[in-house]
Amino acid sequence: MNILDTNIKNVRNVLRYTIGAGSLTELPNLLERRRTLHGGPVVFFIDEFFQSQPDIISHLYLSTNDHAIYVPTKEEPCTDQVDQIVTKLQADGLNEPAAIVGMGGGIVLDVAKAVANLLTNGGLAEDYQGWDLVKVPAIYKVAVPTISGTGAEATRTCVMTNKRSGLKLGMNSDFTVYDQIVMDPELTATVPRNQYFYTGMDAYIHCVEALAGRYRNAIGDAYSRETINLCRQVFLDGDMKSSLNRERLMVASYLGGCAIATSYVGLIHPFSAGLSVVLGLHHCVANCIVMRAMQPYYPEFYEEFWAMVNKQGISIPEGVAQNLSDDKYEQLFASTIIHQKPLTNALGETYRDILTPDKVQSIFKKI
Ligand code: ZN
Repeated sequence: MNILDTNIKNVRNVLRYTIGAGSLTELPNLLERRRTLHGGPVVFFIDEFFQSQPDIISHLYLSTNDHAIYVPTKEEPCTDQVDQIVTKLQADGLNEPAAIVGMGGGIVLDVAKAVANLLTNGGLAEDYQGWDLVKVPAIYKVAVPTISGTGAEATRTCVMTNKRSGLKLGMNSDFTVYDQIVMDPELTATVPRNQYFYTGMDAYIHCVEALAGRYRNAIGDAYSRETINLCRQVFLDGDMKSSLNRERLMVASYLGGCAIATSYVGLIHPFSAGLSVVLGLHHCVANCIVMRAMQPYYPEFYEEFWAMVNKQGISIPEGVAQNLSDDKYEQLFASTIIHQKPLTNALGETYRDILTPDKVQSIFKKI
């Protein structure tokens, strides 16, 4: 296979991390240091789920000047939502907080990243959808992941949909990378089993796609191999949610994020993006649905994926794109084929010869 140059030359990782059960208790000290150094309040973005968890919120020790925004997670982030939050923070005089904290899953972590960039760069979220468009460093930011798999705590992007243009693209920039992560596996204990599996599998799928691809990076490959290794330990075990396995999956999510920051996804993510954009399915469950049709492309991982599904007794929705109108299949084709880099990674530069509209439709009908 022809190995292609990723053009990702000088990789930036998260500056600092803590890992281990109970590490959330270190967050107030980290923030206190920022408050002393920089002055000003801290703005927290918190998954709305934690609004009903006062015990956990009390661990954050919010000061009276701090600001907490509970982020809804039914829909994935959009550019308008990010712009509205920034306008409101500016109106409240919160242009230069000492720190921004994102506490939640990929949606919340991505919203916090986007807001941190916009507060220092100005303009609208859509101005920065693309590669290296962010001009100056963001507000100092801390990620506290509460579900594992997307790798949002480690990557240099924050995925948002622009509802007017239909563009689903992040602010790919070194400035989008978190300055600090606090990884406390106790926070993932309350995640429902299906969601835990779907989201955890995002890490596995990122690395399957990266390792089977043409764009390669030697360190990225090493991250990918260990991510897959950890996911096997978790999802082929009797209790995927034991405290040891929750810690393993948190590490897998972080390493998988580092892996994908040096490479590209493959065939699964473009089809999954089609399901998200056209049918509104969430990213992680959509990936799992796409796996129904992936035997010809990732045969070994296909078998392993379904062995994990069976071992954990997880239900994966079926037939979600079976009987749609021609118009919907055209939209699905357009929103899949647009992902040029991942599709080149998976199938080579002539991917359009393989993924004809008929072929793409037959894949969607299979899932
Ligand atoms: Zn993903």
